[in-house]
Amino acid sequence: MLTICLDDIRDEGLLLTGEVDDDLRAELVARINDLNIEFTGPIDYTLRVVRAYDMVEVDATIAAQVELPCGRCLKRFVAPLSESFSLTFATELPEVEDESGEEGVELTAEEMGIDLVEGDELDLAEPLLENILIAMPLHPLCNGNCQGLCPNCGIDRNAGTCQCAQPQFDTRFAALKNLKLDPNGSKKDS
Ligand SMILES: [Zn+2]
Ligand SMILES: [Zn+2]
Repeated sequence: MLTICLDDIRDEGLLLTGEVDDDLRAELVARINDLNIEFTGPIDYTLRVVRAYDMVEVDATIAAQVELPCGRCLKRFVAPLSESFSLTFATELPEVEDESGEEGVELTAEEMGIDLVEGDELDLAEPLLENILIAMPLHPLCNGNCQGLCPNCGIDRNAGTCQCAQPQFDTRFAALKNLKLDPNGSKKDS
């Protein structure tokens, strides 16, 4: 759980630092299960919380280390993970004409990218989880020059070369070799 009591936010703001706790971590691990990603250490967060009028602004930074497979050679490697993001919450609905009733007003808050705080506590667990997930690299590379695996024999080209080192012609062009030319096409020579 990662909740902030709104009354704890003083005029100068609130600074919170810590590690994602075991429960949140377990939830996170469950969600990234498919990606073959593991956290190799604590997931640290820094939260700066400022309250102004009916708005609560959270500037968050996450820092962690993950072990994950390279997108080219599949070797697992460790990479730093860091992400900064801002969240805006409202303790009261923004001033909107609410002729259409409460649902219409909430939709407007949603459209404005503002989450409404219910009660006097702000639960940051879910937004934190979502943003850690967003921070996961989509195309991780063990290094920028990774040569990847040979598509033919599967050897790790970073570790050695194989007999099929010479690139084969694209199969679409290779197919042209077997293409029979139109016999009429060479008539002008005879
Ligand atoms: Zn690699
Ligand atoms: Zn090969």
